[in-house]
Amino acid sequence: MAPPKPRPPPDPKAQQYALSVRFKAQHALTVGFLTLLLLLHALAIYLFCSGFLLSRLVLPDRSECSIPPIQPANGYVAGNVEQGCWFPKRFDKAVIVVVDALRYDFAVPFEGGSGGKTRGQYHDQLGVLWETSVAEPARGFLRPFIADPPTTTLQRLKGLTTGSLPTLVEGGSNFAGTAIDEDNLIEQLNRAGKRTVHLGDDTWHALFPGSFDANLTRAYDSFNVWDLHTVDDGVTEHIFPLLEPEMRGQWDVIIGHYLGVDHAGHRYGPDHPAMGEKLREMDEVVGRMIDKLDDETLLVVLGDHGMDVKGDHGGESEDEVQAALWMYSKKGTFGRGNGIGLEPPRSAKERPVAQIDLVPTLALLLGLPIPFNNLGQPIEEAFVGAKGIDYKSLAEVGRLTAAQIQRYQGQYSEARKLDEDAASTTRPLWKAAIQQWQQVEATKKASQGALKSTYDAFAAYQAENVRVCRHLWARFDILSMGMGIAVLVGSVALLAAYAQAITGDRAAITPVLLGGGLAGLALGAAAGAAVGYLSSASIVQSTSFGAGLGGVIGISVGFWPARQELRIPYPRTFWGGLSFLTCLLLCIGFASNSFTIWEDEQLLFFLTTFGFLMLGSSLGQPDRDDRMLGTWNSVSFLAATRLASFSRLCREEQMPNCRSTYYASASSSTSAAWQLAIPIAIAIFLPSIIKYFFHRTKNYQGSAVIWIGIALRIGLFLVAGFWILDAADDGNWYPDRSKSLLKTTRVIIAQAVLALAFAAGYATYIFASPFLAVINEPAPTEALSSTSKPVDVDGGPSILTTINAKPTARPKLIILGYANTQGTRYLLLALTWLLALLLLQKPMGQGTLALCFISILNLLEIIDANNLRRSALGPVVLALMGSHYYFKTGHQATLSSIQWESAFIPLSTVSYPWTPILVVLNTFGAQTLCAIAVPAIPLWKVKPTLPGLLGRVAGAVATHSLVYGGFAVATVIEAAWLRRHLMLYRIFMPRMLMSVAVLVVVEVVGVVGGMVGVRWSMGSVGEVFGWEE
Ligand SMILES: [Zn+2]
Repeated sequence: MAPPKPRPPPDPKAQQYALSVRFKAQHALTVGFLTLLLLLHALAIYLFCSGFLLSRLVLPDRSECSIPPIQPANGYVAGNVEQGCWFPKRFDKAVIVVVDALRYDFAVPFEGGSGGKTRGQYHDQLGVLWETSVAEPARGFLRPFIADPPTTTLQRLKGLTTGSLPTLVEGGSNFAGTAIDEDNLIEQLNRAGKRTVHLGDDTWHALFPGSFDANLTRAYDSFNVWDLHTVDDGVTEHIFPLLEPEMRGQWDVIIGHYLGVDHAGHRYGPDHPAMGEKLREMDEVVGRMIDKLDDETLLVVLGDHGMDVKGDHGGESEDEVQAALWMYSKKGTFGRGNGIGLEPPRSAKERPVAQIDLVPTLALLLGLPIPFNNLGQPIEEAFVGAKGIDYKSLAEVGRLTAAQIQRYQGQYSEARKLDEDAASTTRPLWKAAIQQWQQVEATKKASQGALKSTYDAFAAYQAENVRVCRHLWARFDILSMGMGIAVLVGSVALLAAYAQAITGDRAAITPVLLGGGLAGLALGAAAGAAVGYLSSASIVQSTSFGAGLGGVIGISVGFWPARQELRIPYPRTFWGGLSFLTCLLLCIGFASNSFTIWEDEQLLFFLTTFGFLMLGSSLGQPDRDDRMLGTWNSVSFLAATRLASFSRLCREEQMPNCRSTYYASASSSTSAAWQLAIPIAIAIFLPSIIKYFFHRTKNYQGSAVIWIGIALRIGLFLVAGFWILDAADDGNWYPDRSKSLLKTTRVIIAQAVLALAFAAGYATYIFASPFLAVINEPAPTEALSSTSKPVDVDGGPSILTTINAKPTARPKLIILGYANTQGTRYLLLALTWLLALLLLQKPMGQGTLALCFISILNLLEIIDANNLRRSALGPVVLALMGSHYYFKTGHQATLSSIQWESAFIPLSTVSYPWTPILVVLNTFGAQTLCAIAVPAIPLWKVKPTLPGLLGRVAGAVATHSLVYGGFAVATVIEAAWLRRHLMLYRIFMPRMLMSVAVLVVVEVVGVVGGMVGVRWSMGSVGEVFGWEE
């Protein structure tokens, strides 16, 4: 059926063509302008973060074997690798086994009853570390091993090899590592001519490219958290042959990095049979290694970080930082000092060692120089001797380490041009320790007590030094932060002006704004580059700031010609005022830690308030149809919001006043079996519910039938199938079917769903005609012309008067779906995204995302019933819903709540750029869905031809982004203000990072999804109904 032409354009074809070209040009320029604002926001965020996340300076110096930081004691001659560079070495060889995410309590026997803790699947499975430490104290010891946050493997490996503190810039870069460019253990091993073999997690190769023995090394992809066995089986397969006597001459140090425990945590959580199984496997591996070990080899088993109750990590909670360290050798040289029992600490609170302490310990045990930037101290048990009385050695290693730290501090102060104050608390401690040492040396036979207190004095210096460094390196570059805040505030203010201050046709003003902004951006960038070139300022920063500021000024100038069409954007209506007040309260609230911790509850309160007020307003509508429509949709909106709020994932700070329901249990990362009913229910009911909204305005026609009735339903059943297969794999329902078959089938299903959504869905969206049907009603059989009624005039005789007389009866042309042509046509786009976003959520998240979509449909109807299309209400409520459903899809404003494993739903290996995109779509799925829905607000149930419609769509998209822009401004300023707050890294910084990430994601989706998408829906309606002039 050819597209109907219900209102044949009165103008000639040429004029319609010109109008359609004008629409396309205006559309392209609007997209360009919103992209420019996005660019300005990104520049501001870059500037702010580069100042906020300022890190320490990396010194290029390397420690030399022949140049000790201080003359070694007892006439020991430095410089001999064979005997030990600065100190007599204890071991020739070492096997270092990293069990990723080995939390301390995994290695400690479970004590029932105490503290109300119940026994988990992870308790008492890996007993070998504890048992050997108790049974053979001279051979082994076990201690809590505390990580510096961020607790990601990449950052931890840096600390474990350099002995220095993390640089926060790379806190989030778990994806791609960059080579370490400062002194470290691996480099020192290479310089000493040792052959180092690496097996397992390939992060090591990103950090130390080309440092490992090419023939024996085996690296495995580290990111596939679905896979519990490939890496571990590979390490075990290759490590044991190397321990055989005939292979012992082939290597000096082996680093084996197991990932199964970490992956079991991410995938299932610690309290799961898979974790118990994995820990028993590690127990067996360590036991076999002990059997194979010769006397000259040191065996180290360590965890690089722990995991939280759900098995994730990245932050700085206790469970995440408390790892385990175990050292073992058959030589029997380890001991316990005075007053320390043979039993290892029962909890990670007792006698913890810092992870950086491993660096000087390993360096001195293997006879290497201590890496230049090290801040750690030697571990007591390793040097105090089997009898626990060798305080002389202990004092000497403490002195060498402290002297290296002192040398490093001298270099650092010089490079950074630090004043004397920086060392005001450490210098007296250093002097006191050196004085004590000199007294001890002068004594012929120093007492144990004197030696011990000398060791303690060096340890005190080291501890104070770490404290000062932590403080100093958390410095903030106020200038850079200020530049970022200035550009962010300026560009968000422009967004506010664009969204709310323009009274005329927004689309008509946009070209001037875009031109001004681009010119300002270019001029500013050039000026900034010149300033950076001529002065000592960083050229990247000054160019970015120049571009940002120039862009803001350029757009402001662009507003000048249209000043008659501007007004101060203060709220003028009840709904505008309410929206503004809500956003303002949220922005202020982010300055409080308890508000930020309980943000999910605040959002529920605000959305419920909006729901009740919309219900009240709907009940007051004079028109009966409007009243019914608004009332029922408000009730549905409230019910959906309330129902979704039962899905929760608690953050650590909410405990014990919160109960997680997102997964099967609080200590699990898998869904409960009953939750599999959710995707099935969605597949059965959701298409019918959506169909109902199309049916009401007779828009369930053409491509809408094909997409909603058939394609979406098939897609949703495939999604349900995917998650059932996933559960079958997790729960081992079919032990006789191979795991890889299940996995391959799953991946194919997931890819089919994505292809259905983004390829078939977009193609349908782009090429569909508006969802209309035209009915030709034939001429009525009875003649209408004689319709008449009696007219009574002054009580006189009745006269028959003919009214509505029609000369001839004509057939009627009825267009079905005219009332909501624009809205339903656009909504098809949101439906294609909905399918893809649902696939990427866990079953519980699918349920809440489906409720989110129903709420969006309710909101569209409420706005129509109350005629609030042009109010800020719609875009603001959508932004609040995006934030609310973010929490309801199992997320929190913490690093550890990121569901990394979602990258493996449609992929079996890491693949760029898809892996990060998939994680982003999982994390910000709710915000994405709401952002895509925004253009539907001004389009819902409007006339197919309405002047200024494109400008209204741009205004709604801008208003929606403005809410997130406001959150970003607020959290950025508050994080800068609270930068010395105790909770900065735990609460305020993660929330700030989330705000800026959401702003960028929402703007990208708003432009690339919504604003670009509008072109096809409005275009196809324009082709049918003609273009407005
Ligand atoms: Zn991990």
